[in-house]
Amino acid sequence: MPPTDTPPEKGAVLPHGDAPGIRFEKVVKRFGGNVVLRGLDFTVAPGERVTLIGPSGSGKTTILRLLMTLERPDEGLIWVGDDTLWHMDRGDKRVPANQKHLHEMRKRIGMVFQQFNLFPNMNVLRNLTEGPVRVLGVPKDEAVERARGLLDMVGLSDKIDAHPSQLSGGQQQRVAIARALAMEPRVLLLDEVTSALDPELVVGVQDLLRDIARQSDLTLLCVTHEMTFAKDISDRVLMFDEGQIVEEGPPEQIFGEPSEQRTRDFLQAVL
Ligand code: ADP
Repeated sequence: MPPTDTPPEKGAVLPHGDAPGIRFEKVVKRFGGNVVLRGLDFTVAPGERVTLIGPSGSGKTTILRLLMTLERPDEGLIWVGDDTLWHMDRGDKRVPANQKHLHEMRKRIGMVFQQFNLFPNMNVLRNLTEGPVRVLGVPKDEAVERARGLLDMVGLSDKIDAHPSQLSGGQQQRVAIARALAMEPRVLLLDEVTSALDPELVVGVQDLLRDIARQSDLTLLCVTHEMTFAKDISDRVLMFDEGQIVEEGPPEQIFGEPSEQRTRDFLQAVL
């Protein structure tokens, strides 16, 4: 007899639909006199899974924060699908984006943070339903049903009434992953999602994300210091340093035969 406690096929509860690509075009970002991105150009194809690696402080998180519209570029364009984040087309003119445009763009993008960032005063269920109900206007019953499916997928159905402070770091991060997916994003951004976890919890969260990446058609952009995870989850790896892409390629090439000295030095330091 087949086991009755087989977890649901993850693909069944994952968001589906056309995933947009991402394009950075000559993006410059400064913090005061500190030029963090120096005319950065790169693309992520629709449904592609890309990991950014590189030294601390090189600007990787800034790239994700720009996509989440938590930061604004000083120069250049950031495209998500056929739309730019900070500008919108009006007739044949590109004009600065208004709040409505930014709100619409944000709906396509989900992010999982290093520090989980769950709502501490809400239980797990409400953490998952609050965004869909308030931001997307999903009927409550539907949002609850979807939340149950996602919690089942991340293995936390029994924690539906718990508050974040009652959960381990690994459990909180699973809830944060489910919460990001509850918004049915088309692009998922992962920022050092296991670096705040105790070592024994890291693999479980990585395995979950690897399965999600393989079974969904999301466009994925990931920042990590975990090179095995990067190898596992990515179609392509971008080595990033001093505001520019140093080299890029499939994981086997970047980790097996990097062509740039800066990549070799970086990998030697982290592996
Ligand atoms: P990474 O993710 O590669 O470690 P970050 O994108 O976090 O790098 O940071 C890149 C640089 O930008 C660092 O020098 C950091 O101090 C600076 N930085 C990031 N965010 C801010 C901010 N809000 N204000 C000032 N400087 C910042």
